[in-house]
Formats: sequence, structure tokens, C-alpha cells
Amino acid sequence: MPVISRLRCPLAFCALVVSTGLVQAQTNIDAAFARDPKQPVDQSYTDHIKQYTTQPYFNSPLTDYLPASDTVPTPAKLLGDVSGAPGILPYAEDVYAYFRLLEKSTPRVKVFSIGHTEEGREMIAAAVADESLLAKMQENGERLAKLGDPRTINLDDAKAKKLVSTSFPVYYITGTIHSPETGAPTALMELAYRLAVDDSPYIQYIRTHMIVLITPVVEVDGRDRMVDIYKWHLAHPKEQWPRLVYWGHYVAHDNNRDAMAMTLDLTRNVLDTYLKFHAQVLHDLHESVPFLYDNTVGDGPYNAWVDPLLNGEWAMLGWNNVQQMTAFGMPGVFTHGDFDTWSPGYLMFLAAMHNGISRLYETFGNGGADTEKRILDPDEYARTWYKPNPPLPVVMWSQRNNNNYEQTALLSTLSFFAQNGQQFLLNYYTKAKRSVEKPQTSGPTAYVLDEPASSRQAELLRTLALQHVEISRLSAPFTYTPPAKRVKPEKDDDKSNDKDKTEKTDNDDQPKPETFPAGSCVIRMDQPYSRIADALLDRQYWAPDDPQKHPYDDTGWSFGDLFHVKTVRVTDPAILKVKMEAVSDLNAEFDKVAGSGSVYAVNNASEVSLLGLRYVLKDATISVTDKVFDANGHHFEPGSLLIQNVDAARVKAALEKAGLSAVSLRAMPSVAAHPAEAPRIAFMHTWLATQTEGWWREAFDRMNVPYDYISTQTVAATPDLRTKYDVIIFAPVGRSTTQLIVNGMPMWGNPLPWQKTDLTPNLGRIDSTPDMRPGLTYAGVEHLRDFVSKGGLLITSEDTAQFAIDMGLAPGVFVAPKGNVKVVGSVLNAVFVDKASPIANGFDKELGVYSADGMAFTVANTSVNRHIETQKDFKRPTGRGGPGDDDIPEDRPYVAAEPLPSPKGWEPTPLNEEEARNNVYLIPEQYRPDVILRFGSGKGFLLSGLLDGGSAIEEKPVVVDAHLGDGNVLLFATNPVYRGETLGSYALVFNAIQNFDRLAKPVK
Ligand SMILES: [Zn+2]
Repeated sequence: MPVISRLRCPLAFCALVVSTGLVQAQTNIDAAFARDPKQPVDQSYTDHIKQYTTQPYFNSPLTDYLPASDTVPTPAKLLGDVSGAPGILPYAEDVYAYFRLLEKSTPRVKVFSIGHTEEGREMIAAAVADESLLAKMQENGERLAKLGDPRTINLDDAKAKKLVSTSFPVYYITGTIHSPETGAPTALMELAYRLAVDDSPYIQYIRTHMIVLITPVVEVDGRDRMVDIYKWHLAHPKEQWPRLVYWGHYVAHDNNRDAMAMTLDLTRNVLDTYLKFHAQVLHDLHESVPFLYDNTVGDGPYNAWVDPLLNGEWAMLGWNNVQQMTAFGMPGVFTHGDFDTWSPGYLMFLAAMHNGISRLYETFGNGGADTEKRILDPDEYARTWYKPNPPLPVVMWSQRNNNNYEQTALLSTLSFFAQNGQQFLLNYYTKAKRSVEKPQTSGPTAYVLDEPASSRQAELLRTLALQHVEISRLSAPFTYTPPAKRVKPEKDDDKSNDKDKTEKTDNDDQPKPETFPAGSCVIRMDQPYSRIADALLDRQYWAPDDPQKHPYDDTGWSFGDLFHVKTVRVTDPAILKVKMEAVSDLNAEFDKVAGSGSVYAVNNASEVSLLGLRYVLKDATISVTDKVFDANGHHFEPGSLLIQNVDAARVKAALEKAGLSAVSLRAMPSVAAHPAEAPRIAFMHTWLATQTEGWWREAFDRMNVPYDYISTQTVAATPDLRTKYDVIIFAPVGRSTTQLIVNGMPMWGNPLPWQKTDLTPNLGRIDSTPDMRPGLTYAGVEHLRDFVSKGGLLITSEDTAQFAIDMGLAPGVFVAPKGNVKVVGSVLNAVFVDKASPIANGFDKELGVYSADGMAFTVANTSVNRHIETQKDFKRPTGRGGPGDDDIPEDRPYVAAEPLPSPKGWEPTPLNEEEARNNVYLIPEQYRPDVILRFGSGKGFLLSGLLDGGSAIEEKPVVVDAHLGDGNVLLFATNPVYRGETLGSYALVFNAIQNFDRLAKPVK
């Protein structure tokens, strides 16, 4: 290690030099980034850069010019002006056209098609490097593959070092996943040009020492819609412009929360590309805070499953980047901030969970290419220890400024990365090796998934496979004895709170041996991607007194709980010695029909794909069982399907797709059953926001359940909904209010169209309206009331459940006061109350549910929420006897008081005769709400994440079936269909749909 003067070395830089042994510190920024004086400049392009940059200090010596080339076209060739010019926002296909133009004109760029989006638009990745490197990309990739899977070199460090010394790293940059964050595509076009053309020594060094891989547009569907909106705005300069109500086909901002469940095409395409190219970094570009937040360092708590080496890499890259940008004199660049890396749901975190480095920039953007005066909030422009040169409080900001910041930051960080590429490659190997060594170090040794023949397990396995996790199956049984629990002294209140657990002794708490049969699925931890499997299958704990008081996203996500799949964390190394086979074809695993008859019985084990089967096999005769039965040695729960009159091959194919097994019987079993209907379903969305309901659409599409997609405006205009639909789903809007749902947006100003036109060809495809402003209206509310009263089922959740309550559609249901409860995206335990309801078909006693903020219900026998005295409220007056005795006044006969009721947390308080007399609000018994599921309590209440002050919501109802007229309103206080992560609770929704006409209470 060469001597670097610590006195001259800036503090952050010193720290990294000392801690990592890195050698290539750049102490003279001007010299390090000097351009080649012999290379001519494209003067016109350079002049325009200057013109569109609003202050000289919003640019740097790296991007205040563009080198000229006789052969390679600049972005201006395609854009008609420079990157970041005002008024210019190219469609994805124009961006691709430019990258393909580069590929044609220089051997230093290669473009790859990496897949398509839900709406069929292409995604690309462009590799940029010196032609000599691109020519060796294949063999380099083979070496990186060995480093990435050290089992191939027997974990031999000497061999690894040799491979490192002959390899060059790959740095993957992704742009504009968030569609209103518009700057990245043009910045990346120009960046690719610079990397291919510029002869500055530092750029020559980058392109001869690493491959830069660029996906300029991640959310392609959303980008094209955003460009449409922007064009509409340019054509109507004096009017307000429509908000981007749809980004991708399903979700908006949450496309950057899909890196766990892998439900979106863009997530899968990016991960597959990242792994195919064996990249070391995934660097995602965003826009929000001023002027550049390199959240690589962020804030704690850091994710608990990443390799400790990654923490150091984040610090090195983040602080180095800030230091270089600060040396250029660019204001408002920082890397410490309020983003914690706890959740692995972000796109860039795919790298952190696959032995690479995740990074993310937030630059400043105007949501389009207008140059605007921007007024910052005090906390944005405040000087802090980590923002010594903070953003300016008022600023004229242009898309060119944004492009300058993005490119300067990327170029300087690429330079640093190239110079330290060998170190990063060695880290890449070390992290992969430690992933393989996990069983011998931190553990666990494996996870066993023990939920045979369930579509929930099938979906969990598919998710793990999409994460490139290796799955095995036991060829022989394995008996596991979990280690004894360490006995912790219990706090006094712990015991009394543990209401759901009956009378336990210490012995009961100790784990018992368990035998997993042959065929059980095993996720071994001695594999390169053990980290992501561990992070998904383990549980999470966020301490209520953690210094970080504002978790950036969900605090818990344990997939075993959320998929309702029994998942056992095994720490015994013996499991790795048991005979097992690698599962190569997951689908083949699900193709199981036992027996040989013409009646196919499919058990309902709270399946996610059972309802879809009804629609896939639409011409078959299908019955739903009402009671349990046994046949051919198999047990079937109520709600199981009996399928007849269908071709065997079709059943087999449908079952395989559904991840379900069947038993074929020679004749119909003698069990009470009714014909399985194929209910007519409508999804009702607002024009306020569509993201949260988008996750529901994704689930229904994936599970083959068809629906009509209508808006609140359609419902406002449709008087007889019941003739069209059996079920209307009003999925959560997302932090909306009843007032907004009913009234929509204010009607002043101009109409806000969302329609396909020549100007806006990408709008209006999912749904359309000439004006997004009008809401459901009171007419719409009445149409919903009429729909339910005539036997329809309305399904609501979170804010739409609140809407149903506010509008009087759910008599006897109220939102529980929150008290001091603190929940931030946690997994909580819930307990079934009414197992007789078909909504609970196939479930056992308990279920892990996703709770965003601890919302819960209370139920009452009256339609108004009035407090009724209970035993809990009673305080005995001063008088005779002890605290538990009755007071007895003197000189008159004793009359005992009417006993006060003592309802459980999920029960209504019964009214006494006095309270019920002539009470118009008393709900007739058959219309009183049925509580299906309630929150748990005590020690087992929190499964994963953050829970504080939980007693306010313990035992409170979370799923309630309210009765209105001949129909039902199903209310969820939780979100049962969320981010593709909550498959365990999908069946509550699907069971309700399948039984929409069987939810009425029997009249006594
Ligand atoms: Zn963003």
C-alpha cells in the first residue's frame, strides 16, 4: 500500500483508505478528471449544455463539454437537441433507437434485449466498454461465474485470486423505474456516448477496466405514459395536467418494492440480467430530494442478512462519491440520510441479496423537462454535518442540471470503481464464498418447507426459484431436534398478556423433535444465494426503541408467515448430509393426480388457485363440498372441489399451472356439496390512485380469476349493478378518505383526460375517462347499497373498509381506536373466530397477516357506536366489604345489580333489556356482523417487524362479514392482497367470492 499523507487526505477518504487498503485515492481532482486536450469538442452541443444549465456550479468539468466524434452520433442526432434540453422527453423506443445507433457506429457498445413488460414493450441493456473487453465478455463472464459460485473452484482462495487478476468487473446502471422521475434516460444516453467516445485518461481507464451495463428505462410501460402526459402538457401549456394515475400495468411507485416477491416482469428481467452478466453493482437512478442524495450510505438499521463486507463497500462508494462531487463545488450532495436499508424490497437491493453492491441516487427533478423555479423546505436546505454545502433554498432548476448531476456522479464513481475493480471483484468472491459457508458460520444450515400439496407452497417455491435460489427435495426422512431455548427471565406483564396460549409450563415451551418425510422441500444454506432465501424465510424484529423512528418501508415480511407455509429454520448441520435431490423442474413437481377415476377431488387447504380453477375449467361440472370427507386415504376440507366431465389431460395441465394436486375418484363421494358458481366479478377503482388495487389485479390475473375493470365513475352511472355482477371488489385506494372517494378531485380548473388519442397513444389502455376529477358521487354510493341489498358481495379493505363503514354499508362495524399502537408494515398473528363461515374454508386456527399500521375493527349490535358499560368499566363505590364484594346499603332489602357483560375483544357488547327497549338502532340478529378473524394477543402477537403498544388492538376483529339486505360487505382491516407477498390470506378473498351467495346468517 503506497503512502498517502493522512494530513492532506480528507477525513472520509482517510477512513476508507485505512479500512480497506484501497490504493487509488485521487487527491488532485482536476488532474484526475482532466480531459484529453487533443480531442476536439462538439462546440454546438457544448454551447447548449451551457445554455440549459441554470448556474455554472450545477455542472462539473466532467460534463460541461461533449467530445466530438466523426463516426459516433451524439444524443442530439435523435433528440434534436442535447440531453436534458427543455421540452424534450423521449419515448423508450427513441432511447433504444439511440443505443442501437451507438451499437452500429462504435464497437464499444453492444445492445441486448432483456425481455418484455406486462404490456409487451421491450427492455434493453447496453454494455459499454473498450472493444477489446467486449470481445472478451464471454470468457470474462465465465470467470466471474466461478467467482460468483465458489463451489466451482472448491472455495479455493488462490484460484479465486488468479481469476480476479485476469477479470474485469461489471457495473449495472438502471434508469427511470419511477415514471415521473424523468431525467435518467437522456442522462444515460449521453453517459454511454461519453464512455464510448471521450479520450480523457480517466474515461479511457474506465472503459479498459470494466464493463458498464445500462438499462436506460426500467418501467417502460410507465415511461411511455409519462411522455404522453408531458406531451399533453406541452400542447396545453395554460392548463393543469393529469397526474400519472397508472405507471406500470399494475403498480406505480411500488414497482420498487417487488424485489422480494418478484411478481413484475421488470424485476425479473433486471435480476436475470444482473445475474447473467455477473455484475458486481446494481445502481438504480431516482429523483426526489435536492440535489443528489447518494443513499448508498443512508441510515440504520441496515438489513440484517447482508454480508458485513457490503456495509464497508457502501461506505467507501458513498463517501467517495460525495467527496468528489464536493471537490467539483456542486452544492447539495450527500450520502447520509433517512433511507434505511432494512427492507430488501427495492430493485437495487437485488444486488445486496445476491452478493453484489446495491446503490441508489436520488437527484432533483421537475417531473418533466420544464425549467422551473423550485422552492425548498427548510429541512431540505438546512446545513447539517453531512450536508456542509447544502442545496440552495430557492433555485431555477432544469432537466439539464439533473443530467449534469447524474452523469458527474456516475462518471466519478465509475472512475473510482474501475481503479479499485480488483478489490471489488475479490469482495464479490468473498461474499459469495461466505454465502456458501453460511451453515458453518452464522447458520442456519437450511430451511424445510413442510406444507405438502399446497398451492401456497408452490407459489413460495416459484418465488424462490425466480430469486435463483436452489431448491432440493429430501430423498429420505430427516428428524430434526431444534436446540433448547435459552430460558429468559420473564417480565411480570408478559405472562398475564399471553392470553392466546393456555397454561404453559416451561417444558411445553421447549422445542420437540420433528420428522420431515421424504419429499419435503429443503432450501440449503450452502449455496451462493443463501442470503436472499434466509432474508425471506427468517423472521424480522424491529426494536420499538430503535434510534430510527421512521422506518422507510415495511419492517416485517417473513414469507413463511405471509404465504401461510410451515417453514422450519434448521440449525443442525446433519440435514446437509441427508440424501436429497435438486429440483430442476418445479412445474413437474406440481403435476400430481393420484388414483384413476373420472371425478377429481381437489382439497381446499386455503388455496390461492382454487377459485381460478373454476374459471379455467369453465365447461366442466364442478361442485364445492360443504362438509369434510375422506376418500382414497385422503382428507378433504369444506370448500374442496369435485370436478367432473372434463378431459383428463386438461385437468392435469390446469392443476400443474395451479400448483395443486388432485385425487381422482371412481364416483362422486357422498358428501354435501353445491354447484360451484363462476361469480361475475368487477373491480372498482378510483381515479385518485390505482397502485394498491393494482396488486389485487396482479393476484387475480396470476390466479386466473377474470373480472371487469370499472371505475367509481362507471358505478356512479350504473343504477342496476346487481344484474351485471355478483361481486364488486373495492381494493384499498391507499391513504384515501371517504370524502375523496365520493367527491373525487375538485371540479374547478380544466378537465383532466386519461384517454388514448393521437397525442397520447399510451394512455387509456387499462381504463379511460374524459375527466379524472369526478368521484363515486352519492349516486354511486346508492348504487353500491342497492347492489349489496340485492344479494351482491362488496369486498373492502383498509381505507375502502373505512368508506363502507362511513357510508353505512356495514352496520355494526367500526374502526377501533388506535391508542398508542405503532405498527409499520408488520406481520401480526391473527386467530379465526368463525370457522363455520365458508370464508374460513381450508384454514386452520391461526394466520399471519400483513398490517400496514395496526388498523382493526370493533363490532356492535347497534348501528351507532355508543359505549355500553362492561365489567371492565365497573368501579365499586365506597362502602362495606372488600374490593370484590357488593356494597349493601342499610335499611332496605338487597337487590342484586344486573350483571355487567364481559365481552371478548372481538365480540359485541350485548345490550340489556333496558338498553334494547324501543331502540331503533338495534340490529336484528340476522344482520349483525360476523367476525371471521381477529388479531392475536400476548407474546405470539408479533410475528415479524415492529409492534409497540399492541394491547390497543389485541383480539380486535380484522376480517368482518357485515350483512346488508340480502347481501354482504366483507371488510378487511389488513390488506390481504399486498405486493405479491401475502398469499396466505388470498384465500379469504377467494373463498368469499366462491361463496358470495352463502354468507347470509341462517334466520333463527
Ligand atoms: Zn424513485
